Amino acid sequence: MRARNLGEADKIYTLLTRERGKVDAVAKGVRRAKSSLAGRLEFMNEVTLALHRGRNLDVITAAEIARSYFDAIVQPAAFVATSVMGELIDAFCEPDLAVPEIFNLLHLALRAVRTAADPLALLPRFELRLLEALGLRPPSESCVRCGASLIDQPAWLDCESGGLAGMECRVTWMNVLELDTADVANFQALSAARDSVRRATMTARSQVAKAIETLVAYHLGRRPKAGMQTAEFVRPAS
Ligand SMILES: [Zn+2]
Repeated sequence: MRARNLGEADKIYTLLTRERGKVDAVAKGVRRAKSSLAGRLEFMNEVTLALHRGRNLDVITAAEIARSYFDAIVQPAAFVATSVMGELIDAFCEPDLAVPEIFNLLHLALRAVRTAADPLALLPRFELRLLEALGLRPPSESCVRCGASLIDQPAWLDCESGGLAGMECRVTWMNVLELDTADVANFQALSAARDSVRRATMTARSQVAKAIETLVAYHLGRRPKAGMQTAEFVRPAS
């Protein structure tokens, strides 16, 4: 998901692994021209690795490419989308704690980015899925404060309570992000599993994308850097 230089010729890679979750590992000599590892450890490549336990950091001794996404994600919008995904996973995940749902989520998201006409439009649903894997999934069909139904209802974003709240619970003195009935329906469709009775959608309305982004930023305590640099010109206007 991320790499940074170490010393003269080495790099530290932040990897998302199936077995151990997030792992930092060093590839020695990887910045030298003759290194065979460098090309295999491109951003977001799916690889089979051999790791040697080091004193501080694990050492990558071998890498085989299982699947490369690099050709697809060099496109600017795909690159931004993938960078935000990587950065969010990196920021939310504890080292050496395997969360299989997050590994699978990234795997599916990369496949989706590869074929998407608008890769950035995948982010809101990805973010909802990530919150779900982290146990932070906002309830979509009921008020997060009182449990009243949000079906065919407007709502507002209550970050502190972790989701959408109904108008009966609206805190009048607070300036909040409001969603109309169509927005709330879109939020519910975005939250729905692909095989659920409720029709699932992949595309967020702009106000819904904003609400999800705000909720993620609230949980994260900051905004993802990759998204922030480009948000102005890549976000569709409302
Ligand atoms: Zn309520």
